[in-house]
Amino acid sequence: MTENKGKIFVFSAPSGAGKTTILKFLKESIPELVYSISATTRKPRKGEIDKHHYFFMSEKEFLDRKEKNEFAEWAFVHGNYYGTPKSFIDNTINKGLHIIMDIDVFGKKQFDKVYPEAVGILILPPGLKELEKRLRGRNSDDEETILLRLENARKEMEFARKEGKYEYTIVNDNLGKTKCRVESLVKSIIQNRTGE
Ligand code: 5GP
Repeated sequence: MTENKGKIFVFSAPSGAGKTTILKFLKESIPELVYSISATTRKPRKGEIDKHHYFFMSEKEFLDRKEKNEFAEWAFVHGNYYGTPKSFIDNTINKGLHIIMDIDVFGKKQFDKVYPEAVGILILPPGLKELEKRLRGRNSDDEETILLRLENARKEMEFARKEGKYEYTIVNDNLGKTKCRVESLVKSIIQNRTGE
C-alpha cells in the first residue's frame, strides 16, 4: 500500500555526540524536512519567536493541554515544562511532509506509545573517553558541568541500550562521514527504500 503520510524521524544522542551539527546539516541538505516545534512554559529568550522556536505558553495552558492528552511526550526540565504537541506532528505528516525531531532517550520512549511508526536514529559518540575529550575540547563548561554531562551521557546510553527502540544507531567517529550517512539514510527512507 502506498503511504501518503510523511515520515517521522526522531534523533536522540547524549550531549557531545554531534547531534546539533548533524541536524543543522540535515536541515540545510534536505529542505523538505520540517522541524518539530515544542511547547514550553519557559519565557522566550532574546530573539526567540513564538510558534517558530517554541510555542510559548503559560503553565496553566500547558497543564490544561497536558490534561487533554495533547502532547506526544512531555518533561519538566530546569523548572519549566516542555512537550511535543501532537497537533503539529499530525498536521505536518498529513500534508505528506516529513518531520524531524530531537528528543532525549527517555522522551523517545513516551513518544513511541503515540507514534510507534516513527523512525528512531540514535547518534553515539565513539566512547565515553572520546566524549570526555570532546566536552573538554569545547572549552565551554566547567569541571562540574563536564562530569555531570558525562554521567548523564552514560545513563542515557545505558537506557537506550536496554529500553530504547532505535531502528538505526550511528556511531559518530568522523563528523563528515556521519553527516553523509545520516543524509543518505534519511533520503532513502523518504524515498521508501529501506536500509542505507
Ligand atoms: P531550552 O530551554 O534550552 O531550549 O531547552 C531545555 C531542554 O528542554 C533541552 O534539554 C531540550 O532538549 C529540552 N526540550 C525541548 N523541547 C522539548 C520537548 O518537546 N520535550 C522534551 N521532553 N524536552 C524538550
